[in-house]
Amino acid sequence: MIKVLVLGGTAESRALAVLLVADGRFEVVTSLAGRVRDPLLPSGETRVGGFGGSDGLADWIRREAVEVLVDATHPFAAEMSANARNAASATGVPLVQLVRPAWTPGAGDTWRNASSMDHAADIVESTARRAFLTVGRQGVHSFAHNARTWFLVRSIEPPDLPMPPGHELLLSRGPFELVDETALMIDRRIDLLITKNSGGAMTEAKLVAARELHIPVVMVARPLLPAGDHVVDNAADVLSLLGSRF
Ligand code: NAP
Repeated sequence: MIKVLVLGGTAESRALAVLLVADGRFEVVTSLAGRVRDPLLPSGETRVGGFGGSDGLADWIRREAVEVLVDATHPFAAEMSANARNAASATGVPLVQLVRPAWTPGAGDTWRNASSMDHAADIVESTARRAFLTVGRQGVHSFAHNARTWFLVRSIEPPDLPMPPGHELLLSRGPFELVDETALMIDRRIDLLITKNSGGAMTEAKLVAARELHIPVVMVARPLLPAGDHVVDNAADVLSLLGSRF
């Protein structure tokens, strides 16, 4: 059995754990940060909580005799991904990066690209009266100073930092359906959607709804991450790679 540590917290990491466990050649441990009170648990073993930086992760890899590290974290989990790179270099364990494809604009989309959450906040303040803010609870505080815009804030857990003065908080976890996203945006009279470029099907319906309703989108770009030697964009390709290479 090849011991695989999957850095998780995403739908792709759960899909991968199912494949690896079913394959039978791999012993799988998925690591979760512990941000969500009621996480969706993957197949195989799970561990929860930070490792203590890249050194802590390297120690864990050595202690648990991990043979392959898979970084299947969210594209915006930049610190964890950097730690994974450093820990893989320090231990000599191969690193596979599972990076879901970014969303790209299509016909009928009106996107404004923001290089950071603060950049997005500037755009919103000057353009939106009623904004749908779907950047995750950790990004909401960048919009807290904006008293000109009313926000529909959606996150899985409540933000623990300041929120904008005019807002409604909607606690909800995807996947989201187009019919519901459309109804929500119409009902709250949304005139701008703000999202990170997370990619993936689970939360894509809001972009389709925005397109159909002619609502512009502020798209926050992904943090830049150094690409590793083994980068794939779906769980099945990770399994093929592990089967053929390691
Ligand atoms: P981050 O800022 O890159 O990481 C901050 C610290 O949290 C890391 O240094 C690490 O602590 C710990 N950590 C992060 N992911 C971990 C994991 N899978 N297992 C163990 N420790 C982890 O991460 P984040 O953006 O807060 O994301 C946290 C988790 O939520 C990730 O698993 C990610 O896949 C998931 N997630 C994130 C987003 C998002 O938009 N950022 C969206 C959906 C899901 P130590 O240094 O102590 O090891």
